[in-house]
Amino acid sequence: MDTYIQITAYGKNADKFLLAVNEETVRLEGIFSAHKQESELFALNSRKDAYSEELVSLVSEAIALSELTEGAFDPTLLPVSNLWNFGGGARIPSEEEISDALKHCGYEKISLTHNGIDLGKTELDLGGIAKGYAADRFIFLAKENSIESAMGSFGGMVAVVGSKPNGDPWKIAIRDPKGNGFAAILNVSDLCISTSGAYERYFTFEGKVYHHILDPKTGYPAESDLLSATVINESGTKADALSTALFVMGESKAVDFCEENGICAVLITKDNRIVSLCGA
Ligand code: ADP
Ligand code: MG
Repeated sequence: MDTYIQITAYGKNADKFLLAVNEETVRLEGIFSAHKQESELFALNSRKDAYSEELVSLVSEAIALSELTEGAFDPTLLPVSNLWNFGGGARIPSEEEISDALKHCGYEKISLTHNGIDLGKTELDLGGIAKGYAADRFIFLAKENSIESAMGSFGGMVAVVGSKPNGDPWKIAIRDPKGNGFAAILNVSDLCISTSGAYERYFTFEGKVYHHILDPKTGYPAESDLLSATVINESGTKADALSTALFVMGESKAVDFCEENGICAVLITKDNRIVSLCGA
C-alpha cells in the first residue's frame, strides 16, 4: 500500500491475529492496487472480467460516497494522478494533458450492472479508500480472533479495537501539519480515524507545493484552506473517503457537510485553527 503499517494487539491470540492481518493486507493489495499488474483492479481497468464480488462491493461503496460528497471524493482520477505521478518521479503536467485526462474521469460515468462494473471510459484509483477498507478488515479479524484490545495504523488511517488493556480509551494523536509534534489528541474506543493532509505526499516546484489530493473539478492539487482533515467513524472505509473529500471541500463546505450528515471530524485550517465537529 506504499505506506508503513503498525499493529499492536493484546491477548492470547495476539500473535495469530498479527499474522492474519499481515496476510490480509497482502491479499487486499492484490485486489485494490491500481499499479500492480497482477491485481484485480488492474484487470478491471484493463477491461478484463477477472475480479471478485469484494471489488464490486468496494467500488459500489466508493460511488455512493462520491454521490454523498457531490464528487469531492472521486475514485476515477487515475488518468490524472498518473500524469502527476506522486508515487515517484512527480512532475507538473501541461494544462492540455490534464484537460484530456479529465475527459475520462467522473464517477457518474460508472455503472454497476448485473455482470459487474461498467467503467465507461474511466479508470479507477481506490487509493483514497482502500486503506480504510483495510482498517475495517483489521477490525473484522480482531473480532474473529477474539481480540479485545488492538490498534492498527495504515498510513494516515488508524483503527482501534476496544480500549487499552488497562481500560483507558486509546489516545490517537493528530499530527501538527506544520511541525513534528501533534495538534490534538483523540480519546477513542472501537473507532477508525483517518487524516488527509497536503503534507503527506507532495513535491515543491518554484516555491509552490503540489500535493497528492486532487480537486476532481480541475485535475490540480486541491486548493484547500485546510492543512488537514480528520474523520472519526465506525467505518474505516467511510472515514478514509470522507477525510479526502473534506480536504477537497475546504472549511466552509466541510463544516456544512459534517453538520448535515452527522459526521465527526477535526479540521486544521491554514490560519492555524482547529475546528472540531462532532455530529449526532
Ligand atoms: P493517503 O492515501 O495519503 O492517506 P488520502 O486517503 O487522502 O491520502 O487519499 C489520497 C489518494 O487518493 C491519492 O494518492 C490518490 O490515489 C487518490 N485521490 C486523490 N484525490 C482524490 C479525490 N479527490 N478523490 C478520491 N481519491 C483521490
Ligand atoms: Mg482518504
